[in-house]
Amino acid sequence: MVHKTIIIGSGPAGYTAAIYAARANVQPLMFDGGVGRQELLGAGGQLMLTTDVENYPGFEDGIQGPELMQIMRKQAERFGTEIIAEMITKVDLSQRPFRVWVEEEMYEARTIIVATGASAKWIGLPEERSVRDGGLNGAGISACATCDGFFFRGKEIAVVGGGDTAMEEANYLTRHASRVHVIHRRDTLRASKIMQERAFKNPKINFIWNSAVEKVHDPAQKKVTGLTLKNTVTGELSELDVQGMFVAIGHKPNTELFIGQLEFDENGYVKTRHNVRTTVYGVFAAGDVQDHEYRQAITAAGSGCIAAIEAERLLEAEGDTDILETPTNW
Ligand code: FAD
Ligand code: NAP
Repeated sequence: MVHKTIIIGSGPAGYTAAIYAARANVQPLMFDGGVGRQELLGAGGQLMLTTDVENYPGFEDGIQGPELMQIMRKQAERFGTEIIAEMITKVDLSQRPFRVWVEEEMYEARTIIVATGASAKWIGLPEERSVRDGGLNGAGISACATCDGFFFRGKEIAVVGGGDTAMEEANYLTRHASRVHVIHRRDTLRASKIMQERAFKNPKINFIWNSAVEKVHDPAQKKVTGLTLKNTVTGELSELDVQGMFVAIGHKPNTELFIGQLEFDENGYVKTRHNVRTTVYGVFAAGDVQDHEYRQAITAAGSGCIAAIEAERLLEAEGDTDILETPTNW
């Protein structure tokens, strides 16, 4: 059976694409990522890692990330989305119908919506696991200042990293926090000069050089109460009294599956035109996998909507013909 559209990924982009496609009678088949593998998150995507989401419109008092994703899933299912709890392991986008695999099992589709998201890079500490797995992620540890900065009003916090993201996050966080300590493993920053200068000039930012986070306290209390730092030159240990830690050591789009098949931009994200059109006719990309800049649930959902509308228009224009052509004006 050749499906009309296959959606890969079940974050806000994937579920929104599914809601729109299903309501347009496109009968989407979604692969939700299952339980996740290697560094990849499973069903529901990045918001499964967090607690309060206060900037997603429609929830006046905020909503828990996992609950929001559950609601989106139910809404997608209500209109007939078929969801398979698996991770796609291989794709062939070289000809239509496109083919995707879960191990040996192959599925075909006339259009594909890639919504595989991005993953924040983490230091690798056990405390970076989610709260339900005994860590503090979403309870004082975060990788998103725009999302979580608000929860640290008047508090002292740490930002780990020395690149542009760390400088940007640190500057942003000074709007909320009383003091921001930037912890960097070397004694010079990787960030661009202008971002460095902005951070150096900010009186609320303090730099802690040649340091790495050794331990985050205190998972037993389900909140961040301080950090143990290790000097990367002398090996000396010290304590830092903070109530939050933002890891800002970069993001990685989940694109491995598409290497050699889709084009990527200079930052490694899927290259798109017209918001969601990839370099392959019939393949759309939505959400964080193609958005290096905004990386928000609402922007991901918005582009999921666009991808579904684009896929539906393409299918509508083609009708039921078996001849799957590639127009030159894509
Ligand atoms: P993701 O949410 O990353 O989902 C990607 C999906 O693709 C996952 O389901 C994954 O399992 C699946 N997938 C990947 N590879 C495969 C594969 N091979 N086969 C099948 N499935 C696959 N944004 C806000 O707007 N507000 C917030 O308060 C907020 N808080 C955040 C807190 C944290 C801790 C983090 C990490 C992010 C936060 N964000 C927040 C950002 C927001 O989560 C992302 O912008 C959003 O989730 C991106 O949605 P997405 O659908 O593009 O991708
Ligand atoms: P990045 O440039 O790769 O910087 C990552 C930083 O994190 C580096 O300082 C690195 O240290 C540190 N780091 C990496 N792994 C670490 C670990 N395990 N433990 C501790 N520290 C670790 O990534 P980025 O800052 O996300 O920037 C990515 C790209 O986006 C860049 O091209 C950047 O210019 C761009 N960007 C631009 C802006 C802007 O202009 N406004 C904002 C954000 C991002 P080392 O320096 O020691 O390697």
